Amino acid sequence: MMGPGHRALGTASAAGALAVAEPRGVVTSALVVLAAVVTSGGTLSPDVDQTRAWRRITGGSGACAHRNVTHWWAWPVGLLVLSGRLDDVHLSALALGASVGWGSHLLGDALFGRRAVRAPRAGDSARSDARRAGGGRRRARSASRAHLRIGGALFGRGLLWRPAGVPLLPSRGHVGLGLPVGGRLEHWTTRALVAASWVLVPLAVSGLLPAVVERTWR
Ligand SMILES: [Zn+2]
Repeated sequence: MMGPGHRALGTASAAGALAVAEPRGVVTSALVVLAAVVTSGGTLSPDVDQTRAWRRITGGSGACAHRNVTHWWAWPVGLLVLSGRLDDVHLSALALGASVGWGSHLLGDALFGRRAVRAPRAGDSARSDARRAGGGRRRARSASRAHLRIGGALFGRGLLWRPAGVPLLPSRGHVGLGLPVGGRLEHWTTRALVAASWVLVPLAVSGLLPAVVERTWR
């Protein structure tokens, strides 16, 4: 999923969380929404793994490659647990918002993120070189270049190295629907979420939505 979609999903999810969570004041509710918006997309979201600083510090490969450890479900679950344990209402609201924002990002990436054509790894050419002698090497190299070109045309170059969905284990076992990123469906989903957020967030922050939900479920 792209940035605007992540932010819209994070905002709508915050309204949803406020509707079913314990009642809070206007300020703490606004903090939940703010933290969710900030952590649903961009540098302070799971996509921190796409920043230059992250790559410089971690190397950006293996478990630290895009859509691996930062996209693991344990982070939002841990933040949710932390939110329940914090005595300070404002810190608790920030932790809840961060849990919702981070979690919504994972949901978005689980839905939108088509399995990409895998770029050839160093080991691949070594293996195929060993299998085919002589002219096989050149053939393998041009085949992998064609492979990249077709993949790039279909999915966009940036997608070539990304596994579909989000990981069940810190860096493996990716699951997701694999819907195309940046496609028409994502565009309209984002628009619907933005429209829903404009209505739901004021209702949730003011306490009207939680009151309605509570009365309906009782
Ligand atoms: Zn992501």
